[in-house]
Amino acid sequence: MAISPIADPTGPRFNAGLIDRLPKVRGRLTPNAPIGAATWFGVGGPAEVLFKPQDKEDLINFVGACPKDIPITVLGVASNLIIRDGGIPGIVIRMGREFASIEAQDTNVAAGAAALDMNVALLAAKSSVADLEFFSGIPGTIGGALRMNAGAYGGETKDVLITAEVLFRDGTVKEMTAQDMGLSYRHNDLPKDVIFLSGRFKGRAGDVLEIEKRIDEIKNKRAESQPIRTKTGGSTFANPAPDKRAWQLVDEAGLRGFKIGGAQVSDMHCNFLINNGTATAADIERLGEEIRKRVAEKSGIMLRWEIKRIGIPLDKDRDILEFMQRDS
Ligand SMILES: Cc1cc2nc3c(=O)[nH]c(=O)nc-3n(C[C@H](O)[C@H](O)[C@H](O)COP(=O)(O)OP(=O)(O)OC[C@H]3O[C@@H](n4cnc5c(N)ncnc54)[C@H](O)[C@@H]3O)c2cc1C
Repeated sequence: MAISPIADPTGPRFNAGLIDRLPKVRGRLTPNAPIGAATWFGVGGPAEVLFKPQDKEDLINFVGACPKDIPITVLGVASNLIIRDGGIPGIVIRMGREFASIEAQDTNVAAGAAALDMNVALLAAKSSVADLEFFSGIPGTIGGALRMNAGAYGGETKDVLITAEVLFRDGTVKEMTAQDMGLSYRHNDLPKDVIFLSGRFKGRAGDVLEIEKRIDEIKNKRAESQPIRTKTGGSTFANPAPDKRAWQLVDEAGLRGFKIGGAQVSDMHCNFLINNGTATAADIERLGEEIRKRVAEKSGIMLRWEIKRIGIPLDKDRDILEFMQRDS
């Protein structure tokens, strides 16, 4: 088993004892691994222990043998989450290249959980498989897309999913359909600690040039309408209804450009929060909660967070604990 040295001795720390309770692995275990800077928002504390499995067998054996009182969290490329400043207790799993294969079979595409959605769209295009272009508009992984039922520009993961390979906490692996998992708008019914290993998606035979044109259109639309070059986390709140857009409610509450600490509502798109460079995770979460409160006062609608907030706050940020208690 490879154990990395502590990488950031100056940040918040967990006691190092957890690693002794973990099963043997062939991959890498890193205590107090700094992971916040690698998220899209660029904020957040360490993982108590970060596990990078060597391969699928290593991951399945680890999860099956890991004591059940130790929480497990899986990260994709963290384009839809805030890691709180105190870090993530328990195990954080990040899957590497071994989980990122993508293969076209006739008009279907199979992809590992760590494959980037963009690469799935590009491989589908190259293989003349249409209907998966929407993946090019989502800057996450297939694992994240399965958890979030990600969708963009008229396409949604649940509509193209044949089955996903799902690893449960007891070490069993099941092939599941969108219906089995209760996929609906930005929602998945499965427990928080399941791990998506891969997905198989159905497309239809198409014309390469047409498919590539559609991918270009999506790219241009995103660049015009989303602050994609800033530290952000995508759509902060789910739309309350197809004809009630979250951005509009935020705008109508007068919150375009509104700031708390180093966190700000994007001037370009009111449903995106951005880190101006100095924000903490607590600033961003406070800003989101203040928006929810003010939108509810103005419109009577309590927005639902689409962004996942993971981990624990620092002791000084007690108000975040109250938000967490209200959510649970
Ligand atoms: C600029 C920008 C634009 C965006 N536009 C869109 C959009 O148009 N449509 C849209 O739907 N989303 C959009 N997003 C949000 C985000 O890209 C998607 O939700 C994406 O699916 C998240 O994937 P990820 O790999 O980054 O997941 P993460 O953010 O790392 O994780 C998100 C959730 O999925 C879980 N998760 C990740 N991988 C796995 C796995 N293998 N097994 C189990 N759970 C897992 C995590 O635990 C977490 O709960 C946007 C984000 C940004 C920053």
